[in-house]
Amino acid sequence: MSDERAEEVDVVVIGLGPGGEEVAGRLAEAGLAVVGIEQHLVGGECPYYGCVPSKMMVRAADLLAEARRVGGMAGEAQVTADFRPVARRIRTEATDDWNDRVAVERLEKRGGRFVRGRGVLEGPGRVRVGERTFAARRGVVIATGTSPAIPPIPGLASVQYWTNRDAVKAETAPASLTVLGGGAIGLEMAQAFARFGSRVTLIEALDRVLAIEEPEASAVVTAVLRGEGIDVRTGRKAVRVAADRESITVHADDGGVVRGERLLVATGRRTGLADIGLGTVGLDASADTIHTDARMRAGERLWAVGDVTGAGLFTHVAMYQAHIAIADILGRDGPTADYRALAWVTFTDPEVGRVGMSEAQARAAGLRVRTGAAEVRQSSRGRIHGPGNAGLIKLVEDADRSVLVGATSVGPWGGEVLSMLTLAVHAEVPVRTLRTMHYAFPTFHRGMLDALAALAGAA
Ligand SMILES: Cc1cc2nc3c(=O)[nH]c(=O)nc-3n(C[C@H](O)[C@H](O)[C@H](O)COP(=O)(O)OP(=O)(O)OC[C@H]3O[C@@H](n4cnc5c(N)ncnc54)[C@H](O)[C@@H]3O)c2cc1C
Repeated sequence: MSDERAEEVDVVVIGLGPGGEEVAGRLAEAGLAVVGIEQHLVGGECPYYGCVPSKMMVRAADLLAEARRVGGMAGEAQVTADFRPVARRIRTEATDDWNDRVAVERLEKRGGRFVRGRGVLEGPGRVRVGERTFAARRGVVIATGTSPAIPPIPGLASVQYWTNRDAVKAETAPASLTVLGGGAIGLEMAQAFARFGSRVTLIEALDRVLAIEEPEASAVVTAVLRGEGIDVRTGRKAVRVAADRESITVHADDGGVVRGERLLVATGRRTGLADIGLGTVGLDASADTIHTDARMRAGERLWAVGDVTGAGLFTHVAMYQAHIAIADILGRDGPTADYRALAWVTFTDPEVGRVGMSEAQARAAGLRVRTGAAEVRQSSRGRIHGPGNAGLIKLVEDADRSVLVGATSVGPWGGEVLSMLTLAVHAEVPVRTLRTMHYAFPTFHRGMLDALAALAGAA
């Protein structure tokens, strides 16, 4: 198609998940002629199949767990697990049609144009959607995110397995559930369904769950999950899958066989960039992720934000990068991308919060590392809390600079305790300052003082 037939705009955004929606909306608000292209639902994975419905499940499951812990402290409570209210809540509040319509209207109110379809690059600044082609004067932003990665296990393709997209749309908790993958998604779902009565077996190929976290964090979570009756099998690879009318059977490489009513595949995410036309803009067409510089530039008049950049598969990373790209496209000064204090949370109970480097990463980076850890249940608040108090705070210090370069907080509200650790790593607060500040009593974050004492002991 010639340029004369292309519709001229300032910016084209391909993919309207959290990252793309933010870029398209803000640039439209700033007065640019913006076209946002989405092939499925505006909002992306997070509101429909990811963060929002999964955390609604987690919230309900955590309430159940807390109610079951009431016994020794506040008398007996009668609790009957019923998955239907959480399914109803997800159906009502994470509903596809309504949220999608609202999101489209929001973009249009801000002055943007919306096109439903699959966007494909056709050279610098050019994007085709079906029969239409757009020529972007300022550039194109790729924000096409990720979808579930399905491993090539013999037999898997011929059974009706669940991904996160099916699991969050479940109407009832299955009698039994096999979960492939011990990452954040697998663990959150495993625990939530188990608390609603599913008999859950989790199979993880690596030698521990949450393998990117500190080993101590993996150990705490594994012990809790096992304590709740989940059969956690690590260091086992699924090698064959088969199904009959009643169940799906997973065969593992250790000879183990697991039967379940449902099988959830939670073995990672894929970007699916193969047919988006990266080669037409001078990028590696076979790449799994799009390399960006500190301003989220990926090439000539080309930016990328969100999961596709591989910098961290989180909604807050997509939003963070979106703001950097927006400033750059508008020619405004703004901060550049900095992942030193990248933070994230796995919403198991206990929550696992993490910022910056693990101890192993810090050592691999050549730093002179000092660590200090303290158990939540040994802290005042941990003892008061009682049942459900498993956890720890672990600090990773660059001993030469006396600043934290990483930290982990596992425990009740471990994700909230993480906030102060994130600030400490981000702002490079001197460890001596952290030691001499106030920590309200009796809070979980006050456990930081115990971890700092352990850090001093390691000096
Ligand atoms: C179960 C689960 C739980 C999660 N929980 C959390 C959490 O608690 N906290 C957190 O921070 N993150 C969480 N995440 C991750 C979070 O959902 C993602 O990191 C986030 O959605 C990424 O945003 P994005 O904009 O990069 O892409 P996505 O949300 O993946 O959106 C990309 C959009 O692009 C569209 N698209 C793709 N290709 C094209 C094309 N060629 N043309 C047009 N449109 C296209 C897709 O349809 C999609 O709508 C979770 C994910 C899952 C699966």
